Amino acid sequence: MNPSPPLRIAIVEDEPELADLVADYARAAGYAAQVFHDGAQALDALRRDPPALAVLDVMLPGLDGLALCRALRADGDLPVIMVTARVEEIDRLLGLEAGADDYLCKPFSPRELMARIRAVLRRAGPPSSAAPAVPVLAIDAAAHAILANGKPLDLTPTEYGILAALLRRPRQVFSRARLLDLAREGGAHLDASDRTIDSHVKNLRRKLDGALPGLEPIRSIYGVGYRFDP
Ligand code: CA
Repeated sequence: MNPSPPLRIAIVEDEPELADLVADYARAAGYAAQVFHDGAQALDALRRDPPALAVLDVMLPGLDGLALCRALRADGDLPVIMVTARVEEIDRLLGLEAGADDYLCKPFSPRELMARIRAVLRRAGPPSSAAPAVPVLAIDAAAHAILANGKPLDLTPTEYGILAALLRRPRQVFSRARLLDLAREGGAHLDASDRTIDSHVKNLRRKLDGALPGLEPIRSIYGVGYRFDP
């Protein structure tokens, strides 16, 4: 028997007592809890290792909850509950279409928040139940391979690092320098300048076009860098 690990809830809240209180309730409800007090730190960590659900306070140092929600939603389908100190702000947030699954006003009862978390997670479904179809492009991290319609592309380690970084964050624009950093973090050994990333991307595009003609998923953003459009 391999009991499945508890679902992890990220709590991004700059009031430490409230953050701890919510974390205690989450743990008592059977979740793993992870607390952040700063929006920018949370974004980095949650991108690297997405939780099952994030509870985001609106007013945060570093990066506010609204911007954080949008950034996380741009990456994927992470369920989000936003918490605001002002009830009238909920209308504004709804109007801005931040993309949160639910909104809660302070002061709230932790029990109420737990009920909302359960409801949002239920709607989101079990984490691995989605994606029955073979995705057009998928990362096989264990094999350091990218699959195009289920078949591995013939990539150099650097090309793999670049494409994996782009695929992990669809629609996000990367500078050349950032892409190089991410490719290195992914294990690629390169001593590359900005110029050479362009030639890697050129080769990647050629290989992608061979496997997926006409798709052209890597966009050049003039003066900035590159983006992957799924
Ligand atoms: Ca706050």
